[in-house]
Amino acid sequence: MSSIEFRSPFEVVCHTHSKLGPLLAEQQEKVREDNSHDACLTIGELVDYGTRFFGQEVLFTDTDHPAHVLDRLGIQRQELGNGSLEIGIKRISEGVAQRASLIKDHFPGQVLTGVEVDILNREGTLDVSDATLASLDVVIASFHYNIWKLVNPGQKPTALDYVDSIVEAAQNPHVDIIGHPCGDLQRSYLATMKPEDWDYLLEIMAANKVAFEVNLSKYWRGGEKIEFEKQLIRRAAEKGLFFVLSLDFHSLAPYAAYKDPNKVENIFVSSDYDTNLQMFLRFRTILKQLRELGLNELNILNIDKLQFLNWLGARNS
Ligand SMILES: [Zn+2]
Ligand SMILES: [Zn+2]
Repeated sequence: MSSIEFRSPFEVVCHTHSKLGPLLAEQQEKVREDNSHDACLTIGELVDYGTRFFGQEVLFTDTDHPAHVLDRLGIQRQELGNGSLEIGIKRISEGVAQRASLIKDHFPGQVLTGVEVDILNREGTLDVSDATLASLDVVIASFHYNIWKLVNPGQKPTALDYVDSIVEAAQNPHVDIIGHPCGDLQRSYLATMKPEDWDYLLEIMAANKVAFEVNLSKYWRGGEKIEFEKQLIRRAAEKGLFFVLSLDFHSLAPYAAYKDPNKVENIFVSSDYDTNLQMFLRFRTILKQLRELGLNELNILNIDKLQFLNWLGARNS
C-alpha cells in the first residue's frame, strides 16, 4: 500500500527549509551547508518525497532561513551583531536571490520562491533587502529570539519588543505571512501578556492582508504558548484575517514517530504506511480544532492552490 492514497489536507505546502545540495556549484559551499544546515533534506529530495506524499499537484513554498546563506559562505553569523549589519544584509540578500533563481530554474511551477526573513529589531528591520524581498513569490517574517539577541548584543527582547517588532514588520508591503507569531514567546512574557495586547497587530495584519501562520510543528505539541495562541487565533478570525497552516518543514520529526526522521531512506517506505496515516490523521485533528476557533475553507489560504495564488497575486499587484 502506498501513502499516495491519502488525500492531502493542503494544496500548498507552506514554509519549508531545505539544503540546496547539488544545486550549489561550489564544492566548499556544499560541504559548509551540509555541516551547518538545520534541515535534513535537499530541495530536490523535499520535492520528490513531498509530491509522493502530498500528491503531484501540490505546490511548495521554499522559505529557508536567511542566515544559512552566511553559513554556507563561511561567514560568522555574529557579523550581523557587531556593526556590520548593512554588509550582512547585502550578502544575505544576494544569497537569497541566488537561491531563488536556482529554484525557479529547477522547479518551475512546482516550488514558489521565498524566504523566512528574520525580524531584527523594534523598527522592524529585516535581514533581507526590500529589493530582494520584492523579487520573491512568498515572504514569511518571523521573530526568532536568538537572532534578535545576536543582532542586538547585550539586549534581551521584552514582551513589548516582541509585539512591536512584529507590528513594524507587518507593515512592510513585501511581508505576506507572519511566521509562528507565538513561537518564540518567552515564559516570562506570558505572565503579564494579554490577548488584547495583540489587537493592534492583528488589525494591521487584517488591513494589509498579511496572513497569520498556524505553525503545525509547534501547534501539535500544545502547552501554555499554544493555549495563548488559540486565543489569538480566535480574535484574528473574528477580525477577518487570513491564515496559512504551515509545516515549517525541517524534517518529519514533529509530525510522526518515525524511527529516524532525519534518514531520507526511512521516509515514505512502505513499512511506514501506518506512520504516514498517523501524520495525516494528526493534521485532520488539528484542522477540526481550528474550525472551532473560526477557521474554515475561506480563511485558510493554503487549503486551495488557486485561493493561495489569488491572494498572493492581489498582494503583489
Ligand atoms: Zn521560524
Ligand atoms: Zn521556519
